[in-house]
Order: sequence, then structure tokens, then C-alpha cells
Amino acid sequence: MGLENALNQQGFLLARLDDLIAWARAGSLWPMPMGLACCAIEMMAAAGPKYDIARFGMERFSFSPRQADVMIVAGWCTYKMAHAIKRIWDQMAEPKWCIAMGACASTGGMHRVYGVVQGVDQFLPVDVYVPGCPPRPEVLLHALMELQKKIRNEHSLLQDRITRTSSVSSPSVLR
Ligand code: SF4
Repeated sequence: MGLENALNQQGFLLARLDDLIAWARAGSLWPMPMGLACCAIEMMAAAGPKYDIARFGMERFSFSPRQADVMIVAGWCTYKMAHAIKRIWDQMAEPKWCIAMGACASTGGMHRVYGVVQGVDQFLPVDVYVPGCPPRPEVLLHALMELQKKIRNEHSLLQDRITRTSSVSSPSVLR
């Protein structure tokens, strides 16, 4: 404590590197919008002035996977589309996170048919599920805040997230 007080008096702050990096990451998430169906309209609304996603440092919706770190899958996903989504996901740099927005992205929703994937977690490592049909923009904002909490608490430079992603890299749904 003595050292900390002495450094504070000189204008220095002590913090763990992991905490600083997690704080910066959580406050600068760049979404990769994967709008597939009606839920995408609510996702777009979240970016408008009424809901103002910019308050959380996320206003920059990226349409390039290389400049995005959180994929928001909004809407029901066909098996055909799953290949394209997985390819985009693979192009996003680590660390990256995924939100399944709405009942369809989370579970297939009402689409109990052979052509629709029954939850995008069959081929993506989903971090947060957003309930509802459609979920309101407030619910998406809540999910993003939950993701921020998760990032602040979980990530460590000493942990290799590749382990996490490799465990779902060859989903049977894409074979
Ligand atoms: S959850 Fe509802 S609003 Fe969202 S894609 Fe499915 S049917 Fe459309």
C-alpha cells in the first residue's frame, strides 16, 4: 500500500494489465451485423438516435469482418447461409464474441423445418442469447451490456481464446 500511495501522489495508477485491456475491449466493441430476417430491423433501430448504441462505444457497425469483434446474428439462419456466416466469423480477428439475437437465431424459433439451423450455436460460440420475437432494441442493448460484463470479468492475456473457438470449428451442421 505504501508504494501505491507514493505512486498515486505522483500521478501514477497501478492496475493489472489484464484489467486495463479488458476495460478497453469492453468499451470499444465493434459489431459485425449479420441481419438475416425481421430481427435485423430491431438491430438497426438500436443504432438509431432513439436507442443510441453509441453510448456504449459500439456505434461503429462494421461491414468488414476484419474490423469487427462482436457478431450479432439477427434472424433465422438457413443451412445454406450458415456456410457464409461461418466464413465471415473465421475472418474476424481474435478475441471475438457472438450474440444470437432473437428466438430464431437462438433456437430456430418457430421454424421447425429441415432447412433452418436450430440455433446458431451449432456452428458459432455464442456468448449471449437474446430472447424474444422480435426482441426490442432495449433487449439488444442489455445483451451488449452483459457481454461487456463478461469481457471485463473473463478475459485474460494468459488464456488462449483459440481453444474456445477451435472446439466449435468443425460443426456437423456445416458438413
Ligand atoms: S425471432 Fe421473430 S422477429 Fe426475429 S427473425 Fe425470428 S420470426 Fe423474425
